[in-house]
Amino acid sequence: MTNTLMIGGVHGDEIGGVMVARELKGWLRGKGIDGVDIIPEVNLQAIENREREHPTDGKDLNRLFPGDPDGTVSDRLAYDIFQKAKSYDCVIDLHTYGVGGRCIPYMLTDLKKDYNVELCKQVGLDHAVQTGGTGKQLFLELSDIGIPSMIIEAGGAGWLRGELETVTKALKNFIEGEPSADVRSFDSYRWVPLEEAGHYIPKILPGTEVKEGDVLGYLDDVPIKSPTDGLVLGIKMAGPCEPPEENIASIAEI
Ligand SMILES: [Zn+2]
Repeated sequence: MTNTLMIGGVHGDEIGGVMVARELKGWLRGKGIDGVDIIPEVNLQAIENREREHPTDGKDLNRLFPGDPDGTVSDRLAYDIFQKAKSYDCVIDLHTYGVGGRCIPYMLTDLKKDYNVELCKQVGLDHAVQTGGTGKQLFLELSDIGIPSMIIEAGGAGWLRGELETVTKALKNFIEGEPSADVRSFDSYRWVPLEEAGHYIPKILPGTEVKEGDVLGYLDDVPIKSPTDGLVLGIKMAGPCEPPEENIASIAEI
C-alpha cells in the first residue's frame, strides 16, 4: 500500500465528503492497515458554519494552494495542508456538489499525467474526467509536482446516501488493494450556465447521456437545452436560480 492521504471538508458546505472521510477513518481504526491517513474536517470553521468559504477571511480554500505562511487564515491553512500532503505518495480530496445540486460519483484530475490515470484505475469509480482546471487547487498543484492526486465529487449538500456509499465502497477497496473496475474517461466537461433568473425544474438525472439540443430542464417553462453531446455528471435541483453564479448542469463531453 502506498502512503495515502484522504481529506474532506475543504469546502465547508460539502458535508458528504466529510461523512465519507469520517466513515473511512472509523473503519480503518482496528483494521491494522498502515500508510493511510484521513482528515475528515480540514477546514473546520467553514464546516461548522456550513459554508464553502472560511468565515474569517471569506476565501475559497481550494483556490489558494500551495498556500502562504504569511497570509490570512485560509492562506496559512492551505500552506499547512500542502506541506503535509507533499509527503504522501497520493492524495484524494473528497468533495460534493454544494447546496441545491447533486452529481454521480466521479474522479476529477489531470488525466494527461499517467500517474493520475493509474490512480483513477486503482480507485475504480466508473467515471474519470479530465481537467487542467482552475489553478491553485490542491489536486492540481500536487499533481504538478508529481504526486498522483484527484478530487472525488459525489452527491450534494443533501448528502444522497447512495452516491456516498458508492465512494466509500470504492475507497475501502482501494485501501485494501482490491482490483478495481473499468473506468470510463472523458477528455473535457463543461458547465451549463443560466442567463436569466427564474425557477428551475430539472428534467434529467445525473448519469443520463444526452445529445446536443436535448432538454435538461425548464426555467419558468422555457426549455434549457444541452449545448453538447455528453454524460450529465451533475445537476441543479429544483429551485430558484440567480445568474450568473448558478449552473444548471455539468456535462462530460462525448
Ligand atoms: Zn468542493
